[in-house]
Amino acid sequence: MESPLHTDIQFLPGVGPKRAALLRQELGITTFGDLLYHFPFKYIDRTRIYTIQEIRSDSTYIQLKGNLGMFREVGKGHKKRLTAIFTDETGSIELVWFRGIRYIQKSLKPGTGYLLFGKPVFFNRQISIPHPELESLEKVEKQAFPSIFQAVYPTTERMKSSYLHSKAIQKLQQHLLQKVYRRIPETLPAYLIDQLRLPGINEALLQIHFPENQEHLRSARYRMKFEELFWIQLSLLRQKVWRIKRSHGLNFQVVGDLFNTFYKEKLPFKLTRAQKKVIREIRKDFGSGTQMNRLLQGDVGSGKTLVALLCMLIALDNGYQACLMAPTEILAQQHHQTFSRMLDGLPVHVKLLTGSTRATDRSTLHEELLEGRLDILIGTHALIEDSVNFRNLGFVVIDEQHRFGVAQRARLWDKTVNIPPHILVMTATPIPRTLAMTLYGDLDVSVIDELPPGRKPVKTAHYYDSKRLPVFEFIRKQIREGRQVYIVYPLIKESEKMDYKNLYDGYESITRAFPPPEYAVSVLHGQMKGEEKNKAMDYFIRGITHIMVSTTVIEVGVDVPNASVMIIESAERFGLSQLHQLRGRVGRGAEQSYCILMTGVKLTREARTRIDTMVHTNDGFEIAEVDLKLRGPGDMEGTQQSGLPVTLHIANLVKDVKILEHARHVAEDILEKDPLLQKPENKILQTTLSEMKNQTHDWGKIS
Ligand code: ADP
Ligand code: MG
Repeated sequence: MESPLHTDIQFLPGVGPKRAALLRQELGITTFGDLLYHFPFKYIDRTRIYTIQEIRSDSTYIQLKGNLGMFREVGKGHKKRLTAIFTDETGSIELVWFRGIRYIQKSLKPGTGYLLFGKPVFFNRQISIPHPELESLEKVEKQAFPSIFQAVYPTTERMKSSYLHSKAIQKLQQHLLQKVYRRIPETLPAYLIDQLRLPGINEALLQIHFPENQEHLRSARYRMKFEELFWIQLSLLRQKVWRIKRSHGLNFQVVGDLFNTFYKEKLPFKLTRAQKKVIREIRKDFGSGTQMNRLLQGDVGSGKTLVALLCMLIALDNGYQACLMAPTEILAQQHHQTFSRMLDGLPVHVKLLTGSTRATDRSTLHEELLEGRLDILIGTHALIEDSVNFRNLGFVVIDEQHRFGVAQRARLWDKTVNIPPHILVMTATPIPRTLAMTLYGDLDVSVIDELPPGRKPVKTAHYYDSKRLPVFEFIRKQIREGRQVYIVYPLIKESEKMDYKNLYDGYESITRAFPPPEYAVSVLHGQMKGEEKNKAMDYFIRGITHIMVSTTVIEVGVDVPNASVMIIESAERFGLSQLHQLRGRVGRGAEQSYCILMTGVKLTREARTRIDTMVHTNDGFEIAEVDLKLRGPGDMEGTQQSGLPVTLHIANLVKDVKILEHARHVAEDILEKDPLLQKPENKILQTTLSEMKNQTHDWGKIS
């Protein structure tokens, strides 16, 4: 059966080309199906009918039943308005229209009965109802889908000004359901519907738009939410099954000289229990014969770099090359320095490749890489350029993955001829478990849940801008004790110019408060040339400068253990995970470290929650949970919904966690019994999934 849902929306009665264009532009609706899945965002209980006598000054939306009186036009020009008296057994009330006067007069019949819905307003002690919705009693009785809940649909200003308001959408839904009800192809297998006692797809979609009662509405919503989350889980888990089935992995059998020598002679400290555990997990993957795709989560400062380094040595021991991709040039450089330092004395050839690598150096590097004379390549996005080719790339590490898209990751897969390299994605942005389940359903997850010993938790305080002097005094004291200080200014794309002005104003006032020769101040921002940046960073790392004034370019990864104070200016302008990342730049040495959040006096409630959360906890996972609640999953860094295989119309990754877990179990269960979905009763799952794939290409559609 060809699904009626693919029909072009302009062919729906009441739509036509003009409205179709509007629906497409404003809501991305192009087909019957799109409209049908444009769900109400709330419902108003219409079981209750008020009397005019009952109206109070604080009444919100109410429903009345009565008689419409004659129209009267009042006023002139743009003050012109239309009024009519509406009467029931208990009294009468004035109705007012300011717009669409002609249309109203044409479409309503004075002297007949109406069901009225609207919000009374009090003006000069008079009650009136502006722009009420009126439905003739005659029609109400003949309604195709009687519903006691009034569905309220999302619309836009442009739509409303073309009379495509919620009520009009509801009417379209009615036309639509009259056409497609009982003809919508079922998407879930019959056994699942039975087993989970879900309503069928036709019933569910009808009840979502025109609920008969609370109970039907509840189960319809449940089915639709369950379904969305189920598809996400099923498609992710299926990808994983396929990957394991299909992708041969490189088999790293030996743990050889490089690893052992480094471990015994070069390791600067004892590994934490968590680091050891993760290395064991990775070693197991290396030897399993299938490709590793692992996400390594570890709070800032938990020592992920060292894990990456040790695992790279295993790859080298097995005759393969390894690479590490970092999101910024500064970070890549720092990794390069760390690696070179730690591997000093071992026969390992490490090089750096970034956007500012010179062309001549680049071609030598390309050659060495192809001939296998280069063992470890560290770099930025420059690594994924086509000209970069390895002789035998065996292991790829991606640091701070939230800066990289899935597509970019995939390009590294392609850098080898036959068998794909093992992949380790490292992130310091802790992702709550439920979300990780959804976004990385096809990755295995390792967690470093422990910081190296001897770390003192960073002490965090909040100061208003006006209380700057004691903060400066505190900075001086820390510098006198030999510590270093970061001062970070926000940088937000839209107003870069102004932000740099803030940064430079800040820099000036800092140099005034901390004058040379006693104090030395570095400045660092994204607009500086590579060389300048290096110099600034280098001076700070070597302790030549005491204060680093910077934008968020130092947000990820940078490691200067002697820096003990992080001052964040205009902290209210940062997101929670960003604040946490910034704070993670200090507290890396043995000394007590501090993070000071500077803000203006006026804070929004959300900003206050962010600041308070930072002050009261250092736990990255707790912070991620709060962040998720505040922002919703769509906004989480690296977790754009566009990455999901399914567009969420109704399910919410935060609120519907229970349903999500249930959906995951159901999907796992199905794939366990039928990994390739080949059984006849599961054929429908295949069909629906591939249908959905075709539809979600236009990812940007819903923002
Ligand atoms: P992140 O996980 O944020 O990338 P890093 O790898 O930069 O953290 O490590 C943070 C700091 O902790 C570095 O200075 C590193 O040398 C140090 N470190 C890593 N592992 C240990 C350990 N087991 N014991 C002590 N210090 C460690
Ligand atoms: Mg790091």
